[in-house]
Amino acid sequence: MHIVTGAKKLTSHDLLKKDTGWPELSTRRELQQLSILHKVIHNQFPSYLVNDLPYMSDSNNRIERKYRFNPAPYNHAFYRDSVIPSMIRNWNKLPNEIRTNTTLKEFKYLYKNNFSTSPYPLYDYGRRLTQMSHTRIRVQFSNLNQHLYDHGLSNSPNCIHCAVPETPIHYFMECARYQNIRTQMINEGMAILPSINRTGRIPLKTLLHGSDKLPYPDNVKLFDIIHTYIRKSGRNP
Ligand SMILES: [Zn+2]
Repeated sequence: MHIVTGAKKLTSHDLLKKDTGWPELSTRRELQQLSILHKVIHNQFPSYLVNDLPYMSDSNNRIERKYRFNPAPYNHAFYRDSVIPSMIRNWNKLPNEIRTNTTLKEFKYLYKNNFSTSPYPLYDYGRRLTQMSHTRIRVQFSNLNQHLYDHGLSNSPNCIHCAVPETPIHYFMECARYQNIRTQMINEGMAILPSINRTGRIPLKTLLHGSDKLPYPDNVKLFDIIHTYIRKSGRNP
């Protein structure tokens, strides 16, 4: 995640996970195992490999018989926690609409949708250096003085031009030094976000993450406008 996003060392892992939306390794391992069972049920797995697997449910219900496994018998806790019993347990816990889906591709898609945080589509969008600056501001460890100060890397959180803390909102919306390029950003942003007309400002959340009220292509345009501001500011945040 550090390499892809360009985040600095010591950036909060939680914020990075939230920013990228990448699933946990354990979720990816589990999906791998469940895909094997999906293939077993749909006869896409060589039968000689699954001789020990077919604990298909003996329930009276036709759907249950087709899409469920009986728990694998075990004598020791050690075996209960091993691969086959645990994958069967995880399979049986799946919501019906996922478990009974017949296409592997859709099955994986539904599983990811159900269990992963939705991916943040724009975390790696744009020119590399600008994208890195934008991400660093989002994950709260950029070259802005407030972030450097928070990480013990600066004696003061203040902006050297305005003598107030150089926070993300100060950098984007308030700093006197960037008035001209800010006017340009706001004028261009209005075409996408009419609410700017009323307030004359772009909210910090939208500046950092885009707007969930906008379709994807408009968020891309908005990111382009914001990236231009970052580049023209010369601040390299
Ligand atoms: Zn300033």
